[in-house]
Amino acid sequence: MKHSTLLASILLTPLLASCGDEIAPKTIQKSDLVVDIVISGNNVFSGNGDKSQSIDIAICGDIICALSPKGDVEYNAKKVIEAADLVVSPGFIDPHTHSLGELIEPTTASNLNYLTQGVTTVVNGNDGAGIVDVGAVNKQLTEQGIGTNTALLVGHGSIRDQVMGRSERHATAQELSQMMALTKQAMIDGAMGLSTGLYYVPGSYASTDEVIALAKVAAQYDGIYDTHLRDESTFNIGFIEAVDEAINIVKAADIHLHLAHIKALGVDVWGQSEAVITKVNQAINAGVSISADQYPWQASGTHLHSAVVPKWLMADSTEKFHQRLNNTALKQRIDQEISENIRRRGGPSALLFTVAEDQTLVGKTLAQVAKDRKMTAVDLVKELVQQAPIRVASFNMSNDDIERFMVQPWVVTSSDGTNGHPRKYASFPKKYRRYVKDQSLLSLAQFIKQSSFATATALKIPKRGLLKVGNYADIIVFDPNKFKDNATFSKWNVLSTGVNTVIVNGKVTIEAGVYNNALAGTVITKH
Ligand SMILES: [Zn+2]
Repeated sequence: MKHSTLLASILLTPLLASCGDEIAPKTIQKSDLVVDIVISGNNVFSGNGDKSQSIDIAICGDIICALSPKGDVEYNAKKVIEAADLVVSPGFIDPHTHSLGELIEPTTASNLNYLTQGVTTVVNGNDGAGIVDVGAVNKQLTEQGIGTNTALLVGHGSIRDQVMGRSERHATAQELSQMMALTKQAMIDGAMGLSTGLYYVPGSYASTDEVIALAKVAAQYDGIYDTHLRDESTFNIGFIEAVDEAINIVKAADIHLHLAHIKALGVDVWGQSEAVITKVNQAINAGVSISADQYPWQASGTHLHSAVVPKWLMADSTEKFHQRLNNTALKQRIDQEISENIRRRGGPSALLFTVAEDQTLVGKTLAQVAKDRKMTAVDLVKELVQQAPIRVASFNMSNDDIERFMVQPWVVTSSDGTNGHPRKYASFPKKYRRYVKDQSLLSLAQFIKQSSFATATALKIPKRGLLKVGNYADIIVFDPNKFKDNATFSKWNVLSTGVNTVIVNGKVTIEAGVYNNALAGTVITKH
């Protein structure tokens, strides 16, 4: 259906009626649009940061086909959602998730833990780990159906792993051209950009020039560069220097920079948010395009080995990793480096085991388990990282840094959701409850903008994140008094509550707080 021709057929009254001694009875116009749903609300936020208005939103198919002052236009709608004083907003966009596994698996494809946060679009493929064959994933998800929309990033780490394994060296010219070809194909197949995880193996083994070469390819297709920095702490080059590296990469590649889950990780760099903000603002003023996302928690979450094991130990293969770990000639150096990494993260009591095969670990800190087993924390780490992967929550951020980053106009909301951490179920409502309702650090309009339009703009996601005629109808209705996080570190997988209605691509998927099993999401591509 061509909505544009229909749109021309209605005239909308001005938003402000003129005042006079006598107010003429309002003439209600009749719309001849074929409307599926009208959402009628007194508290509608467009997503652009402006305060709310009383608006009727008409949805035709998957598109917002009209917006009019509440009650001014009579729509012949199949369904009317009376939002009254509830908050109506664009569906939230989460620029950093790890939800592809759920989306691909039919029993979890609803992505319900995101829908119940008001999130209608998730980005996948962050941290350099995005799947190389974007076309195949796109096809599979489209055929099976997904509950939220998703946009995919191709991962530099995955590309490097495919071409040169876990080799701890620079790429040869031939390897580099192979990696560039894979990046190009992924962009053609619909990737929204390139992600890197320069802190992680094998991304950590790459030179800045290698990343620039791939970022240039993504830039040719109007992609973005999304990076988990080489260092958010003092692990290698330092936090500020890692931000410098990221800025240098995007300047050389002429591409938008998106800093993933911005944070000052660990006591060594607490307070460096100020210097980083200054640096980013200077770069923006000099014409570099930069954004960042942030989750509202003091703990990060990752694998135990990624948290504290030096990267050189993990080169080549798991077998080589274990050999080095048990090599007595290397023991002194290894012990010293692991110990130092634990210290950077706040010590053994700041690392909480959240997911492990050995259930006796879960819910305890590294310090507690080391004490129970009468071992040093370092020896316990060396033993555990040779078993099945274990996830930890790492309590390493200061609230001052979190708040300083949160109010920057270039920072948007994310979850970085992973198993074991409540951020996967509760980031958006937690940010709303704590920083909008309780602390008034952000206005509701700011929070909504940071969770919708600012994100769509940063990531170059077309026609979403803003309630605007012609945009896709991804819309949520939530109760400002009830929208809340329920997940905690001891029970991390509890759904959030307070979202009454979720509409994805014009289809109602949550109504009166209940999910109706619709899989209305789509894979978002550039074309
Ligand atoms: Zn990350």
